[in-house]
Amino acid sequence: MSAIITLDNVYRGYRMGQEKILAVNGISLTVEEGEICCLQGPSGSGKSTLLHLLAGLDKPSKGSIIIGKTRIDALSENQLALFRQRYIGFIFQSYYLIPTLTALENVAMPLTFCGVPRSKRIKKAKELLEAVGLKDRMKHRPSQMSGGQQQRVSIARAFVNNPKVVFADEPTGNLDTHTTYEMMDLMTNMAKASKQTLMIVTHDNEIADYATRIIRIRDGKIEKIENGRDLSHEKLEA
Ligand code: ADP
Repeated sequence: MSAIITLDNVYRGYRMGQEKILAVNGISLTVEEGEICCLQGPSGSGKSTLLHLLAGLDKPSKGSIIIGKTRIDALSENQLALFRQRYIGFIFQSYYLIPTLTALENVAMPLTFCGVPRSKRIKKAKELLEAVGLKDRMKHRPSQMSGGQQQRVSIARAFVNNPKVVFADEPTGNLDTHTTYEMMDLMTNMAKASKQTLMIVTHDNEIADYATRIIRIRDGKIEKIENGRDLSHEKLEA
């Protein structure tokens, strides 16, 4: 196995008037390729800030972040945007699908930014929608789908560019327990099929069942790292 994410003494501070908040307060961490990591911790502990730093949506005040072979904290905004398009996928709690586009168009969208020709984009997006069980919903718009279906579309979109790492911020926060398991089966199976790494911020203990490691954050620091139960195979076979 090789490291896909390496953080060395990472800080992110915010200045609020006279007060300085260290949302991320000296985090060092290595994540191996193919891991499924859960980030857990109380509200305000710095999980979202850390996820944004890892995904190249924000920059640390201090410290280095390496994804694959690239030191992303040293990239310019344009280079970061290109990096995210090629190597990173995102899944959000509220899906963030484009309401005027069909499921197929939403999934094909990231490939447009990567310069993939239209026929290839459509072919790839169809494959992904089939993989998430939405073959017969390709022409539906988000408002014509259930929450679980919309999250399936957003999972297909996150994986369409074959990213190295998929980051998910409370991906099942709006879903019932049964749908949560379905989404976790989907995400972990897709990631495992291509040795992709998943980093999930969650309050859901069901999700922790799928993790290889659970990283507990408190006051911007790693409080503890636990081995997860990684039950995905058992759940699949059940
Ligand atoms: P979590 O995701 O664990 O709930 P966050 O990463 O959102 O925590 O926030 C960590 C801390 O940083 C909190 O104290 C929050 O108030 C502060 N914080 C987050 N974003 C900002 C910001 N843009 N400006 C100022 N303070 C922020």
